[in-house]
Amino acid sequence: MEKLFKTIEGFRDYVLDLETNMTNKPAISPLSGGKGEYEKSVYIESELKKLKFDELFRIDAPDATAEKGIRPNIIAKYYGEDKSKTLWFMMHMDVVPEGDISLWKTKPFELTLDADKDTIYGRGVEDNQQAIAAAMACARAIMESGKRPPVNMGLMILADEEVGSDKGLIYLVNNNKELFGKGDSFIVQDSGSPEGNEVEIAEKSLLWLQLTTTGKQAHGSMPNTGNNAFYAASHLAIRLSDGLRAKFNKQDTLFNPPVSTFEPTKKEANVPNVNTVPGVDVFCMDCRLLPSYKAEDFEAEVKRIIKTVEDDFKVSIEFEYLQKLTSKATPIDAELVKAYSEGIEKVNNVKAKIIGIGGGTFAAHIRNMDMPAVVGGKIYGMPHVPNEKASLKFILDDAKLLAYTLMNFK
Ligand SMILES: [Zn+2]
Repeated sequence: MEKLFKTIEGFRDYVLDLETNMTNKPAISPLSGGKGEYEKSVYIESELKKLKFDELFRIDAPDATAEKGIRPNIIAKYYGEDKSKTLWFMMHMDVVPEGDISLWKTKPFELTLDADKDTIYGRGVEDNQQAIAAAMACARAIMESGKRPPVNMGLMILADEEVGSDKGLIYLVNNNKELFGKGDSFIVQDSGSPEGNEVEIAEKSLLWLQLTTTGKQAHGSMPNTGNNAFYAASHLAIRLSDGLRAKFNKQDTLFNPPVSTFEPTKKEANVPNVNTVPGVDVFCMDCRLLPSYKAEDFEAEVKRIIKTVEDDFKVSIEFEYLQKLTSKATPIDAELVKAYSEGIEKVNNVKAKIIGIGGGTFAAHIRNMDMPAVVGGKIYGMPHVPNEKASLKFILDDAKLLAYTLMNFK
């Protein structure tokens, strides 16, 4: 390991060069006004070709709105002693737009190296180019050492993470099942802290509800001739929040907050004037369920509570999911969690902290296939903001962590 770490420490200029060339190829989703990942993928693939991968290919998801009509996903594999299992490093190429340009001190799509010779600025340098550069530095070091890892090393460099994952991970899960082997594990360096101590193994299920209550519109002076949908919906909001909190009340200290959350959030406008009793009311709830609960049980309780409001107020209520991403947890005793936590202690000199988060990352799709996934990274933690920055040292530390986890994986 010490020799591998030394090699990686010599790759500062390599990762700086990779970051520089990725930053000047903005891979923004067409849904956010960009042209997609094509140009960036061509560059990354050309760099991967210089390394000694045993397999290197692209899976293009069709997208007529993107450059060349595709959203490219790059797959690279370097065989291990045991070829039946792969430890995947999963990353994404797309970046979010620069936002308000006046808030940037440097050009967002031109990498700037700080006077400290370590901090780099530019859109994407952290999210998620840091992970791509770290994975390539790790791969190059292992290949140059002449040693094969115990299991295959896989790089999955994906399109479309920032705006859903339909043309990226979800496309592969639906169309290329052969990529995902039974014994495979995944590391996603797309979150974390400057200490680099976090090991995220679980997330809450994300359940966004839209509730439409229908009563009968009437003049404000004659409410008895109508049925106030807003009045009934107000009871619905309270009964759902209180009822769901009471029923799904388990605590899990992996998470902050340690409970499932059920919040009435968005409220749509109903009538434009004060003297009309609204006949229709629409509001939304952001619900996040601990992964130990089943989404079916949540839905059954929502339906039961809806029925009580319908009966008591003689309204009809429909609900739909604006988003539904359920997630299983990665077992805390998974080999991956062990090796990765050990790596953190070796490389970053801190105690690994196992955590769960509020939900909505693409690791959920992996965990739902019953494959372990950890999310982490040594980052400033400032994605999507102006003056996004990363540290060359952090990138090399992440590369060491990947190398440690892979070489000690059973
Ligand atoms: Zn990201």
